[in-house]
Amino acid sequence: MSTQPNVCIVGSINMDLTVTTDKMPMQGETVLGQDFFTNPGGKGANQAVAAARMGANVKFIGAVGDDPFGKTLLTNFTNENIRTEGIEIVRDASTGTATIILSENDNRIIVASGANQSVTPDHVRKHRNLIITSDLVLLQLEVPLETIVATMEIAKANNVPVILNPAPYQPLPEEILKAAAYLTPNEIELASMKASPLFTSIKDKLIVTRGDKGVSFAEHGIEREISGHSVQVIDTTGAGDTFNGALAAELAGGTELADAVTAANAAAAISVSKTGAQAGMPVKEDIQGFLH
Ligand code: ATP
Repeated sequence: MSTQPNVCIVGSINMDLTVTTDKMPMQGETVLGQDFFTNPGGKGANQAVAAARMGANVKFIGAVGDDPFGKTLLTNFTNENIRTEGIEIVRDASTGTATIILSENDNRIIVASGANQSVTPDHVRKHRNLIITSDLVLLQLEVPLETIVATMEIAKANNVPVILNPAPYQPLPEEILKAAAYLTPNEIELASMKASPLFTSIKDKLIVTRGDKGVSFAEHGIEREISGHSVQVIDTTGAGDTFNGALAAELAGGTELADAVTAANAAAAISVSKTGAQAGMPVKEDIQGFLH
């Protein structure tokens, strides 16, 4: 029998359209950029690739449009051994895109959610079997909030723990904050969460990513920190996604919290030393080599 950890992700699938430039255009200005490239992206998809590379059997619930980007992204999932039976091809929306303007010290991003908005509570309920047969569910906030609520209800009723990566940040209802086993904000998202009256009650669920400073989290009520690794930074796009996917794969496989955070912190550090969100994500053997 396989001992592969099972992770279900309900989330976004995008094509990232990146243009590089020396100079960010001002309002009304046109500038000549440099390179243009397309890369698979979306927080859900990125985290799925990170978890699959770390050895998890990943089952994805999501949607793409009936267009060339959608086909390319489904092929990408198949190549990464991610299960796609929970992905619907919708006819009335385009595949999600993220248009990224990248310069040396800055990046600006516009997300057009497209088919990701078609990931409805009914869609999730139709594929509930993928959730209840998993060891863990991993969620972000690039699909509708009611879909997050519906997923958490199914997970909770079947004792499947949920990691919620609250990104891009939006205020969260009490039922979501209560139902999550872990919340994984970055420092900016954490600052927004502190405004919630429920903040004190969720403190022990927080695993906070802190860029090059590493990660802080609570273990048995005691605050712990794991330092960031000193690496040559090439591209931090997707660092948080690598962290979340790797964390989910480790926890789903039964790894203790501190060891899971250590592995995810290493996975994310490796990813920032390489170009591209998914392209830079390590496999499990890379982590073992990096930490020893
Ligand atoms: P992004 O939006 O760039 O994907 P994020 O803002 O969601 O990232 P961060 O807290 O910046 O998340 O980074 C996530 C994790 O990636 C960190 O906790 C750390 O493990 C790793 N990391 C990020 N930047 C660096 C760095 N410069 N050096 C080493 N590790 C890093």
